[in-house]
Amino acid sequence: MATLSRDLERGSYEAVLLRTLRESGPASRTRIGEITGLSAATISKAVSAMVDKGLLREGAVAEPRMGRPAVTLVPAPEAVTVCGVQIEYGTIRLGLTDAESRIRTLRTAPFDVTAPPSEVLDLVATEVRRLVDADTGAPCVGVAVGIPGAVDENRRINRLTINLGWRDVPVAEHLERLLGVPVVVDHHVRLMALAEARLDDRVRSGIAYLYVRRGVGLGVAPAGRGRYAVGPAGEAYLGHTRVVEDGELCRCGARGCLETVVAEPYLRARLERAGHADVLRADRPVLEGLRRLAAQGDPAAVEIETDVVRNLAGALATVVNLFTPDLVLVGGMVAEAPEATITRMRELIRERIFPLLREDFRLEPAHRSEEASVRGAATLALEVSHFS
Ligand SMILES: [Zn+2]
Repeated sequence: MATLSRDLERGSYEAVLLRTLRESGPASRTRIGEITGLSAATISKAVSAMVDKGLLREGAVAEPRMGRPAVTLVPAPEAVTVCGVQIEYGTIRLGLTDAESRIRTLRTAPFDVTAPPSEVLDLVATEVRRLVDADTGAPCVGVAVGIPGAVDENRRINRLTINLGWRDVPVAEHLERLLGVPVVVDHHVRLMALAEARLDDRVRSGIAYLYVRRGVGLGVAPAGRGRYAVGPAGEAYLGHTRVVEDGELCRCGARGCLETVVAEPYLRARLERAGHADVLRADRPVLEGLRRLAAQGDPAAVEIETDVVRNLAGALATVVNLFTPDLVLVGGMVAEAPEATITRMRELIRERIFPLLREDFRLEPAHRSEEASVRGAATLALEVSHFS
């Protein structure tokens, strides 16, 4: 096995043992010897040191075939570190987690949105190194990056991110060259969905996650570990479904896309045109200001709010009918909406979905989406490295 021999050449028995246990599952010292060809004395010495360091735990399961029971060894969650990265518009957010996707450290760094992608990725690599260098945990074995926009089927290339003007950016290759560990890239909202699907015990079939901020993104993730697989890239395209014939021109080049009705920049522009620049104060959620104006009977506000809520509900009803998730999470700008807006959205969706789905339908605001994206990226890094 190439990776194993490379570890042996480096003389890192810790890495060999962790990799062996990851691939074989819990195993006794004898079994590890059979797999690796290492001597009993070498294994015994390395295992004792790793148990002392908290990297390995002794399990109670016996292997009867050798005559006397043998203690099996299991890697501790702390024995693994992975890095999750989220590239947002103008901000890089990254964190290190263990094998249980628990975030140990988190940092953010701003970047110039007009910079070429290679420059932004160089900065990502610098930030990952800085985080890893300052960390005292186990070595980092993999990195996953969440980016708004579509990725290729092998999770190596960012195909298109309209907001940043990125097209066919070889994210994984670029970062692997700089960091020397496996790197994968995925759609950021899919990673948010992945993180939430792993955390929420009530979720049986899966989660659909709708994130609205500068654009509209959807993520769908099944419940349970190890079942995450890259699907068609369509989750990144939901925002570019036409909802208004001959509507406003969208950044994608089409007209009347969902984004042009519900995404924050378009919504702000529309409010400004209606003479409601006062609603646009950056420290206040847009949908909250809109609700307040609509409640006062302002005709433009009522019209804009109705458009936003109807179109979000329409899109989500289609998502529910297609994927039948048992939980729909709305993040970003929609999570900041007042309860009355969320309630109205729930009612409209319930009216529009298939009768069999109405009773169990659940929609909740998702807070801390950015952290979920970093945690989801780390979870993906674990899954592709076979650590979870
Ligand atoms: Zn569009």
